[in-house]
Amino acid sequence: MNLRLTDNPMELLQEIDACRLAMARLRRDGRRVGLVPTMGALHDGHLSLVRAARKMCDAVVVSIFVNPTQFGPGEDFESYPKTTEADLDACRSEMVDFVFSPKVSAMYPDGADMTSVHVSGLTEGLCGASRPGHFDGVTTIVSKLFNIIPADAAFFGEKDYQQLMVIKQMVGDLNMPIEIVGCPIIREKDGLALSSRNAYLSEVERMQAQCLNQSLMAACEKITSGQVVVDEIRDGIQKIILDAGPAEIDYIEIVDAVSLTPLPKIDRPARICLAVLIGGCRLIDNVAVDVPL
Ligand code: AMP
Repeated sequence: MNLRLTDNPMELLQEIDACRLAMARLRRDGRRVGLVPTMGALHDGHLSLVRAARKMCDAVVVSIFVNPTQFGPGEDFESYPKTTEADLDACRSEMVDFVFSPKVSAMYPDGADMTSVHVSGLTEGLCGASRPGHFDGVTTIVSKLFNIIPADAAFFGEKDYQQLMVIKQMVGDLNMPIEIVGCPIIREKDGLALSSRNAYLSEVERMQAQCLNQSLMAACEKITSGQVVVDEIRDGIQKIILDAGPAEIDYIEIVDAVSLTPLPKIDRPARICLAVLIGGCRLIDNVAVDVPL
């Protein structure tokens, strides 16, 4: 097990100035700092990022902030699950050094709303198409976090594959001095990707939600056995999802793994990405696919 360098108890920081001071201390001591940005309601997916950070860094900072600017009108900002005490306990158990959990008014004081960070291209399709402004909210808050917490590395899940690619692009384009580490998707036993939003699902919907991963696995099998035509693969995925129960498919896309542009056939490393509403709960999932041999 990788131990923390210090025996200090975890510190909860809610003020930006206090956070800056703590980070300055770490840097002065020459610590390699890992940042795990989250919106809380922590589960094993988040904690896998913490463990990756723990392995690669001397000090781990988890940010917990439900960022209003990445939610659209009618989305679940107000009702987003909040499990603060359990989150802090989980962070303590994972030997997190600092939790940064600012108030909305600290991150967005009156008048501080004239600047935003926009990544074009990569944000136009997939979730960007159905959630206008979402990625501007994400890239702006992540930039603000990077400015407050000058970490050496930041850890993001492949669960939000488009988000991961958008942030990598932003960091490259803007020469931000931070390494972006992508971490694999953590799933339930039945394959459902862990998500804070899974808490919205009823028992029946939760059973039904297995179909997302099942459809992706079936698509991977088809591809392994030589199917490369995207329309055929997409039809198979759609059928499995719709056969499982009432659902609204937002998108099922097979895209170039780097540029995220839709592919007509699988002739290069690709990603199958989908977003589906089950009982009003928007679930996303994705899987990597290689060109069949
Ligand atoms: P969120 O709190 O939903 O904004 O997620 C915070 C970070 O945790 C993001 O980088 C997500 O991609 C990552 N994450 C969420 N769920 C999972 C999961 N099931 N497996 C791996 N990473 C995840």
